[in-house]
Amino acid sequence: MRFLSTRGESPALGFSDAVATGLAPDGGLFLPATLPRFSRSELEAWAPLPYPELCVRFLSRFATDIPEDVLRGLVTKSYATFAHPEIAPLVQLDEHRFVLELFHGPTLAFKDFALQLLGNLYELQCRLRHEKINVLGATSGDTGSAAIHGLLGKPGTAIFILYPEGRTSPLQERQMACTGAANVHALAITGTFDDAQAIVKTLFGDTAFRTGHRLSAVNSINLARVLAQCVYYLSAWLRLPPGIRDTAEFVVPTGNFGNVLAGWMLQRMGVPIARFRVATNRNDILHRLFTTGEYRVGDVVPSLAPSMDIQVASNFERFLYYSVGEDPARVREVMRTFRETGSFSFGSALQASFASSRCTDAEILTLIQDVQRRWGYVADPHTACGFKDLSADRPSVVLATASPAKFPETMREALGFEPTHPSLEALKARPLVVHHLPASVDAVRRYVEQHAV
Ligand SMILES: *Cc1c(COP(=O)(O)O)cnc(C)c1O
Repeated sequence: MRFLSTRGESPALGFSDAVATGLAPDGGLFLPATLPRFSRSELEAWAPLPYPELCVRFLSRFATDIPEDVLRGLVTKSYATFAHPEIAPLVQLDEHRFVLELFHGPTLAFKDFALQLLGNLYELQCRLRHEKINVLGATSGDTGSAAIHGLLGKPGTAIFILYPEGRTSPLQERQMACTGAANVHALAITGTFDDAQAIVKTLFGDTAFRTGHRLSAVNSINLARVLAQCVYYLSAWLRLPPGIRDTAEFVVPTGNFGNVLAGWMLQRMGVPIARFRVATNRNDILHRLFTTGEYRVGDVVPSLAPSMDIQVASNFERFLYYSVGEDPARVREVMRTFRETGSFSFGSALQASFASSRCTDAEILTLIQDVQRRWGYVADPHTACGFKDLSADRPSVVLATASPAKFPETMREALGFEPTHPSLEALKARPLVVHHLPASVDAVRRYVEQHAV
């Protein structure tokens, strides 16, 4: 299978090259040239498969340049790091309410589904092509730790993650800085997340530096991330009681649109998911889009669901591509208008695509309490956003994107106690290995030069 850029001005690539490239050279995002179509009988035959095998069957339709047994090895290794035997267990709260738990991976958030696999894909690439890879990124929290745990100790790779000193949660910092792996570099920058991100951008803009060190980004737009995320929607759909499958709404706490996009693409491949609901926190660009038809950036404000504190939903471009009839010229035009004016109006056409909701911090606390009172279930602040405005007459599956143990302060404020998790407790006993650097391009450049593989 070949993969095209949403902007139509880059050559089509095979799966492995598209994954290694990340962002297409024309600035667009890679998508399959044509989406496969799964029939109901084919889907139903997959129902008994364990999660990793389901993943192999699905991905093998896209990763046609990787032999199936090699792919099976990668996938098995990727999900062996998960602490739950079902990988993505579907928990039933009552007759019509389900929670899809996506936090049993090594960093206790859903990003592990994609980044464990991406780490193993990178390792394969390095081995086959006798290449090395240096991953550089900035994080305000979950992405950095998930990326680090995807590459932990992998030969031929090093990972450098910049984060604003003192502005990630102490547990998130420990997840990045207590791994003990020599190829992991947690770089605490004296500055904000925007400073960290600006440094990374500048270094990627330096072509000689980027190519000289084979720099790669692990950001939310990698094709492999979207495809890996399709699998848990498929798994959940197959595990729902048959009477509910075709009517249930999937509710997705989202910021970057990455998570819900995967579900929506799976729907286009023939999996009859009835509807999606996009759940945002107070950073509500997507909620405003699906209620007013206008895509307009606002200021990012900190919230109790920090991993959704985003205003520009980078994965939205993939959705846009399909919405404008797979027309790259139209995508370029919309993206240009958006870049120049900070907004774009879709009119009323989009409103039918997704239901949506927005959740303030006060509502997050109340929802955590309501969910616990009603079902005895402890939901993290991101997952709690998914319980806003649940439709009364329709079954729903709320995606639980993080373990509540990652957010002890907010959970204490809502429920009066701090949930714990053994893997986080173990981290507290390990030494923190942090490299402190000023917010300067040169300091980071020098550090990478000295430690790159
Ligand atoms: C990253 C993250 C999200 C948002 O994911 P998107 O890719 O923006 O949809 C939601 N919840 C948690 C816990 C996360 O780490």
